[in-house]
Amino acid sequence: MARVLVLGGGLAGLSSALALGQSGHQVTLLESRPFPGGRASSYPLPADDSGELIDNCQHILLKCCVNLIDFYHRLGVLDRIRFHTGFYFIEPGGRISVFRRGVLPAPLHFSESFASLRFLNLRDKLGIARALLALRRERHTRPGLDEITMLDWLREKRQSPRAIQRFWRQILVSAINEELDRMAASHGFQVCWLGFLAAADSYEMGIPDLPLSELYAPARWQPFPTIDLRFRHSARRIVFEHGRVAGVQTDSDTLTADHYISALPFHVLPAVAPELTLDYSPFEHSPITGIHLWFDRPVTILPHATFLDRTIQWMYNKRGGRYLTLVVSASRSLVAMSRQQVLDLALRELAEFLPAVRQATLEKAHVVKEVRATFSARPGLEELRPIQQTAVPNFSLAGDWTRSGWPSTMEGAVRSGYLAAEHAAAALGAPARFLLPDIA
Ligand SMILES: Cc1cc2nc3c(=O)[nH]c(=O)nc-3n(C[C@H](O)[C@H](O)[C@H](O)COP(=O)(O)OP(=O)(O)OC[C@H]3O[C@@H](n4cnc5c(N)ncnc54)[C@H](O)[C@@H]3O)c2cc1C
Repeated sequence: MARVLVLGGGLAGLSSALALGQSGHQVTLLESRPFPGGRASSYPLPADDSGELIDNCQHILLKCCVNLIDFYHRLGVLDRIRFHTGFYFIEPGGRISVFRRGVLPAPLHFSESFASLRFLNLRDKLGIARALLALRRERHTRPGLDEITMLDWLREKRQSPRAIQRFWRQILVSAINEELDRMAASHGFQVCWLGFLAAADSYEMGIPDLPLSELYAPARWQPFPTIDLRFRHSARRIVFEHGRVAGVQTDSDTLTADHYISALPFHVLPAVAPELTLDYSPFEHSPITGIHLWFDRPVTILPHATFLDRTIQWMYNKRGGRYLTLVVSASRSLVAMSRQQVLDLALRELAEFLPAVRQATLEKAHVVKEVRATFSARPGLEELRPIQQTAVPNFSLAGDWTRSGWPSTMEGAVRSGYLAAEHAAAALGAPARFLLPDIA
């Protein structure tokens, strides 16, 4: 049985460990923190004796995330993901429009609910429909979509300012965690095509019904005795000798294996493996801010909603309308604010969308600014992302930042993990396929 050492217990590392462990390899995974999941994880609410676990931020997937869904299935937790079929758009003042599929087949499945959206006028809607048709046509035919921004493309298609602000920006900034004028058009195309046009159910939004870290808690790995997850174990240094990895130094010893996979973030790898001649300079971070609010009474009955024309973009109802999580993607404007300033802004805006907030008392609150949430999916980056196969024969790379074909998402992380596992399996003389193709 070949031995594989995986560094990093985020989704990229966990998925490569699971794929290889299920294929009969002996896998050891080192994770520096006391729990799995990396950026998609949970921890006890600080300075609170309730023992409540909170996600570092709400994480959602769409049904087109086939590799992430496969990972959940392999781990036996797919039944803990609830898929929602309606998206609620709320305007300041509280008017709600619902976006859900109707009776027509894809790509016309949103026709009825799109026509009924109240926050766009007829001209905006005709323009958006025209642009979606162009997107479907240009997806394979137009060169250089990675070289221009999504905003360049939308302007070229003469989208109205309202359509850009209330439709395109509202959907894409949260999906890609970048502003329209900084994101490559290729990523905007991918979200619109896979999520909203390619299949009638691919837009359905999956939300775990338990804290993220419990999805991949150590007990879930008991059916896989060939996988050894070691928490509080940091990789200090990857040792290279004669063009191969000879071992990995931790605080206490040096571990050896037949093959090694780094699933470490791009800002960590240079210190752990300075010998690697990778160019990290094209990578920049884009922040996400999560705001957790607990009220003394229910303030909404909606399961989630997206808020138009304000800073707060999404609301998730975590428990009975009393515990809400708010999310702001590409949240550069919030990074410099104090916790209190963020909370004041959030409560002010929330009351515009959910009037019941005005009568409610805030019992506790928690603000998480993830400054290194994702990489910025800017034009020109795609071809600079390293592939999983490296020049070192017994060493593969994983991580959402490696070239997965997807932006920085849980699906991108799992895709990179499966690709790295495929490279490892081939290098160990037991080729295997783990990556599932996109739905279209
Ligand atoms: C606030 C926020 C909201 C997000 N929302 C969504 C969402 O809704 N949907 C979505 O699809 N994606 C979302 N993402 C993105 C998603 O979380 C990431 O793309 C994905 O989890 C990255 O996984 P990864 O394994 O590549 O990296 P990471 O999760 O960063 O994993 C790397 C791991 O390596 C460990 N590590 C670091 N150094 C060492 C070392 N020296 N030795 C051992 N271990 C080490 C870290 O502790 C970490 O566990 C969000 C991200 C954030 C931060």
